[in-house]
Amino acid sequence: MQYPEWIWHNGAIKPWAEATTHVMSHALHYGSSVFEGIRSYDTPKGPAIFRLTDHSRRLFASAKIYDMAIPYSPEQINQACRDVLEANGNTTDYLRPIAYRGLGGFGLSADTPTDVSVATWKMGQYLGASVVDEGIDACVSSWQRFAPNTIPAGAKAGGNYLSGQLVAREARRLGFGEGIALASTGLLSEGAGENLFLVFDGALHTTPISAALLNGITRNTLITLARDAGMEVIERDLPREYLYLCDELFMCGTAAEITPIRSVDGRQVGSGKPGPVTKKMQDLFFGLFDGKTPDKYGWLEPVSA
Ligand code: PMP
Repeated sequence: MQYPEWIWHNGAIKPWAEATTHVMSHALHYGSSVFEGIRSYDTPKGPAIFRLTDHSRRLFASAKIYDMAIPYSPEQINQACRDVLEANGNTTDYLRPIAYRGLGGFGLSADTPTDVSVATWKMGQYLGASVVDEGIDACVSSWQRFAPNTIPAGAKAGGNYLSGQLVAREARRLGFGEGIALASTGLLSEGAGENLFLVFDGALHTTPISAALLNGITRNTLITLARDAGMEVIERDLPREYLYLCDELFMCGTAAEITPIRSVDGRQVGSGKPGPVTKKMQDLFFGLFDGKTPDKYGWLEPVSA
């Protein structure tokens, strides 16, 4: 792993190695962190951070759920994202803002200071080279997502990713590209770190936020782009077997972008190749970054403001 030179940590750009935390930090013991994953892209108008404002809004929403005070404004976090990209001279990286309960008490309800950091690194294709073109083989995990009255899926919090790790590691161990989890209701939830879209008769179906999933910004982007293109999008509960029966299936997320799924649990999905609706959504989505899809909503936020 090659690390970048600079990182933003508690208000300043520092050398990567200096952004340390004490081993007795609350977050390390109890999962008490909230974070974001954001991508920046090269666009014809220069490097842009995709939906930065919406990502930092979700960061603050996650902190609110956990009653965690972030000692910076959203504007300061946005500026930190821009500054750390520019410091590293890489304007098309993945960005990881994180706020966490630091050192300042060992009890679960301790009011520790909140430490904040923003890192960047080269992500490339999260689920492996060429998966965006070829698709992956997925499986349904033996691990369910947490129930809505246990851990709030609407917060992007460190502790939630214990669930994600179980799902993703089981899938990899069994030789699959990614795992898909069911909610505690037994109905479809989402991938280990991605939301799901199923295609039936040309219409897009995606699982609802009540199904213990993260309200993904990529999911929202695709719903918006599809509806603007006159396509039907339905948010609905779906049982597992519809993964096998749909015409097309794909996952989406900041890291995974739009990753087609060619089989689930050994059953081929549709033709076993990325289908026309998946390709159309990829064209609309990636078109945002080469100027082919108009940026109607101001989602491309320049790195150099
Ligand atoms: N679900 C989970 C569990 C995730 O970790 C992610 C990635 N942040 C997503 C869905 C997709 O969300 P987004 O499109 O905002 O990256």
